[in-house]
Amino acid sequence: MRTTLLPLFDVPPEFADKVLLETSDGSTFTYRRFFALTARLAHALRGCGVVPGDRVAVQVDKSPEALALYVACVRAGAVYLPLNTAYTASEVDYFIRDAEPRLVVCRPSSQTEIAATAAKVGGRSATLGVAGDGSLMELAGNQSETFESHPAAPDDLAAILYTSGTTGRSKGAMMTHQNLMSNALTLVDYWRFTADDVLLHALPIYHTHGLFVATNVVLAARASMLFLPKFDADEVIRLLPRASVMMGVPTFYTRLLEHADFTRDRVAHMRLFISGSAPLLASTHDEFAARTGHAILERYGMTETGMNTSNPYDGDRIAGTVGFPLPGIDLRVADPETGRVRGTGEIGVIEVKGPNVFKGYWRMPEKTASEFRPDGFFITGDLGKIDERGYVHIVGRGKDLIITGGFNVYPKEIELAIDAIEGVQESAVIGVPHPDFGEGVAALVVPESGAALTEEKIMASVRDTLAKFKQPKRVIFVSELPRNTMGKVQKNVLREQYNDLFE
Ligand code: ATP
Ligand code: MG
Repeated sequence: MRTTLLPLFDVPPEFADKVLLETSDGSTFTYRRFFALTARLAHALRGCGVVPGDRVAVQVDKSPEALALYVACVRAGAVYLPLNTAYTASEVDYFIRDAEPRLVVCRPSSQTEIAATAAKVGGRSATLGVAGDGSLMELAGNQSETFESHPAAPDDLAAILYTSGTTGRSKGAMMTHQNLMSNALTLVDYWRFTADDVLLHALPIYHTHGLFVATNVVLAARASMLFLPKFDADEVIRLLPRASVMMGVPTFYTRLLEHADFTRDRVAHMRLFISGSAPLLASTHDEFAARTGHAILERYGMTETGMNTSNPYDGDRIAGTVGFPLPGIDLRVADPETGRVRGTGEIGVIEVKGPNVFKGYWRMPEKTASEFRPDGFFITGDLGKIDERGYVHIVGRGKDLIITGGFNVYPKEIELAIDAIEGVQESAVIGVPHPDFGEGVAALVVPESGAALTEEKIMASVRDTLAKFKQPKRVIFVSELPRNTMGKVQKNVLREQYNDLFE
């Protein structure tokens, strides 16, 4: 079905007085109150000179008003462009020059800097504070609570979302109404969302996970959410008894498991726990199941595509896999060089095609062209395989593939072998320059507290299970792995740090 996001914003009267979101201090937004706010903000955007097709860049802290601003932009026909709140002024400068927004909305504290940057590209700035303060809110103050949404077409841009920058400089993914709405409707169905659901929302809203997956699904199901400023394990444990679903990155789950008061009783009533954005360790999945009785449902997606696969709602949720391609989405595994489709169980690059796949990278036509096959499949850059039962397994990113002495080494395989060793909490395997082999395999290992591990012990354990060329040439113990805000291990940081290891 071809559609836009606009039906999400057209709330049937029977839902008007229903709570859409509740913040941790207990203040509530009904659907009526929230959409009145989006109307006032849409008028304020017009007041700032925003017309359909304009980009509106936003770097503000998470709040109900910030979420309303996303909806207001889309209603005004603008292209919503959220920026990670952790970006520094010079990083924001890059994004603003790249995107040339008509308006930049920032925190009150960064107005002076941002106004100067916005002005360089002929844009204006306004502020939005975490307490619903700021100049944009003042402008919205006495505006009308109704707004005629711009009549967008399915292929119009609704947002430009920058990728996480895990493998290099972030790219702006152009997302259409159709991309976002088709994915939201598919997920409501696949994950059985209804108006009775209460989602515990502790993710950031500048990333596809917390913004589109979580919020659009809730809006489409006319469900509710407990809207927390960030993940705080105590707060989450306190509120879980009032939720029915939680979406999280793997670190949410490992942190919950570290708490003794995260018990089966507290989550007995929960319907669903979902994980994504980074690989969930099988050990986390198993420990969570043993503690709570819930099998975490792992799914796989990316900024450019929204969600591509999911473990089943009914049926086996298999740890270490990301489940099946979602309905309406074609997924195949191909030879990275030739594009020839690979057989069952064979590793290759994951490619996807469907209504969820983005329109291209903002102002990067060559990059866009090189990431699509002639038959329209998008080359994700993730390596994986499909097993006999149809489950998709991700073995790592193409950019993390190690080529040592002419042999391909998939880091995931080595990591799984190391993680299975008694006393290992987790590991990251990377390739760094090696004078003889081109790249040499190195393993960074995080021991469990109190574990007596040595390099020799790790080497000895993998000697019988892994071919010689796959065995790490060095094992280094570290207290933690570098992760970004979405819980992704930053292998490029590690590669840089250990670049001279074999020299
Ligand atoms: P960049 O493209 O800028 O390097 P990024 O790929 O990390 O950054 P995102 O779009 O946020 O930016 O992340 C998508 C990627 O996250 C996927 O391509 C995949 O590598 C990884 N990912 C998402 N979900 C999972 C999962 N369940 N298991 C393993 N990897 C996952
Ligand atoms: Mg990516």
